[in-house]
Order: sequence, then structure tokens, then C-alpha cells
Amino acid sequence: MASFDATAAANPGVRKLQPYQAGKPMDELQRELGLSHVVKLASNENPLGLSEKVRTALQGELSDLIRYPDANGFYLKSKLAELHQVGSDQITLGNGSNDVLEILARTFVSAEHEVVFSQHAFVVYPLVTQAIGAKGVSVPAKDYGHDLDAMAAAINERTKMVFIANPNNPTGTFLSTAEIKAFLDKVPEHVIVVLDEAYYEYVPEADRAPSVEWLQHYPNLVVSRTFSKAYGLAGLRAGYAVSSADIANLLNRIRQPFNVNSLSLKAAEVVLDDHDYLQRAIEVNAQGMQQLVEFCRSEGFNFIPSHGNFLTIEVGANAADIYQRLLHEGVIVRPVAGYELPNHLRVSIGLPEENQAFIDAMRNIR
Ligand SMILES: *Cc1c(COP(=O)(O)O)cnc(C)c1O
Repeated sequence: MASFDATAAANPGVRKLQPYQAGKPMDELQRELGLSHVVKLASNENPLGLSEKVRTALQGELSDLIRYPDANGFYLKSKLAELHQVGSDQITLGNGSNDVLEILARTFVSAEHEVVFSQHAFVVYPLVTQAIGAKGVSVPAKDYGHDLDAMAAAINERTKMVFIANPNNPTGTFLSTAEIKAFLDKVPEHVIVVLDEAYYEYVPEADRAPSVEWLQHYPNLVVSRTFSKAYGLAGLRAGYAVSSADIANLLNRIRQPFNVNSLSLKAAEVVLDDHDYLQRAIEVNAQGMQQLVEFCRSEGFNFIPSHGNFLTIEVGANAADIYQRLLHEGVIVRPVAGYELPNHLRVSIGLPEENQAFIDAMRNIR
């Protein structure tokens, strides 16, 4: 067995995959460069820190950690069902919404199928598609965002799933309610449309699509949401899908029974009631966005207008170099060359002083 070739033995789709590129951890940069203070604006995390209500609730959960979590997530699902005015049997919980996206692909997509997504869209869509050995169809973007007409035109009889991120990561582009509705009207019923709304809470209420209400009219629609961004629980991993009960029933057949751990279940349940925390997150984000946009305007940087908690800035052909120099200034942002955006860097919105640290670092290295 000494000559076993693991790569050759792997599924063809897996062989061609590149591992997900995460934002550089803060302590790693501190170790590598001996920096005492590091600002991380690389993973669209919530800069407010953990909700105090969640912190208190988690202390109370520690003694129960010797038990398995509730495999059905009864309390969290009940709470989400109430929030969305749907049945608990329409909710599928995930270890982050990435888990939900993967469960969706594994439930419905096989090697003979095609999956449609946009150029510059979230990397997990091609990743879960390729892992199954299905064909990913990346549709050229329009103004960095989803070209829904072109995506509709890319659907054929082999198409099984379409992923739409709204707002999209890493571009921050946003599709209006009317645009998505027109798309849903065009999609044939053999195609499942996954509407990934990871940044939903940052969208002004008047602009938010009534996506969960749409489930009544579009049985082939699935909406996914996360606790990782505006709710500030990225480290705990909790997300969910809302769908028809029929789809949820299928997703639950392959979902790992304990995919969401006890601490995550509890934290998600508690943070849903912390309206003040969510409100502050939205306000801090709006202010920070303004701060970064003003910086870009004053320095003459183009940026992609963003509806999320990050701004993707066109820094030029030396983006990789600027990324490295920012690291030496103690600021971690996200290179997006892997998203076919080699001249851009994605900067997550932080607290005012964190945004200022990025601005100062950019001025220093110029
Ligand atoms: C961050 C993000 C998610 C959420 O990921 P989790 O697994 O819930 O942490 C999903 N979709 C997009 C587009 C994202 O940017």
C-alpha cells in the first residue's frame, strides 16, 4: 500500500477542487509578523462582539454539554417558525448556512445534472456542485452582479439547481424584489432555486424581498439565512433553510442528526430576541459603510456599491501586493482574485476605529 495514490483514487470532481480560502486568522498574523495589534476585516464578521444576552445564556448551557444536542432543534425551529410565520416542519437547521447549501446539493443534484450560478458569486456554490461531480455553469456577471436573464437562459433540462446570493458575496450587489420575482416566474418547476440571503438583515426593510412568503407560490424555492453575519455567531456555526415541508423533509433525511451543537442552538435562539443587538449591528454597519465609501471617493478608488457588511474596492493590478502590505500594517482584508476579481480587495465593515486603521494603512502604503 506504500504506493497508494490518494489523488488518483479521489472522485474526479474532488480532484479538481481547491480548498475554501478563509480569511487569515488574527493570531496567525500576530505570530508570523510579531505584531501586537491586528485588525481583521476579512470574513464579514460582526464587529460588535458577542451579544451579552448570548454570553449569559451560554454560561448556563455548559453543564449540559455532556449530553447530545436536541437532534431536531425543537426550540430554535419553533422560534424561527414563529418569526417567519411558517410551520416548524419547513425549517432545516445547518451547521452554518454552508451546511444547508451542501445538504441541498446532496439531496437534489447528481453527477448528470447542471447547477447554475453567477460569475463572482459565493464560492460554496461551485464547491458543493463539483464535489458531487455535477456540472457547474457560471453565468457571466452584469455590472459585477447576477444577470438573471442570462441565468434563466442557461437553464436546460439537465439543470437541477440555481443558486442566487442576494446580496451577493464578495461583490455586495443586490437584486430587487421585482427582478427576483420575474426570474422565479420564468424558472421551470424541475429546477430548485436557492435564494441565499446571508446578508438579509443589512438590507433596508423597504428593499427586502418577501422571500419566505414566496414559498407559497413557488414550491421549488428554498431560502437560506445565517446567524454568522448580523447576528454575530460566526464561530458557533448556525444557519437554516426555509422551504416547503416536502423539501425540508428530504433535507432532514441526509442532515447529520446533531449538525447544530447545543451551544449554537441556544445562542441562535437567544440572539433572535436581542433586537437591540441586531439594530446596533445594522447601524454600525451603515456608518462604517459611509466611512469607507467616503475614503474611496476622496482617494479616487472605484468600489462596487454594496448592500452587505463589506465593501469590495478596486485597488488596481497590484491588489495582491497591497494585501500583503496591509498585513504588515496589521490589517487583514480579503483578496478576491479567486472570484475573478484580481484588482479588488474585499473589506469587511468594522467598528469606526477598525475602519480607520484600514484607511490609515492604505494611506501609509500609498
Ligand atoms: C457568509 C455567507 C454565508 C454564511 O455562511 P455560514 O456558513 O452561515 O457562516 C452564506 N452565503 C453567503 C453568500 C455568505 O457570504
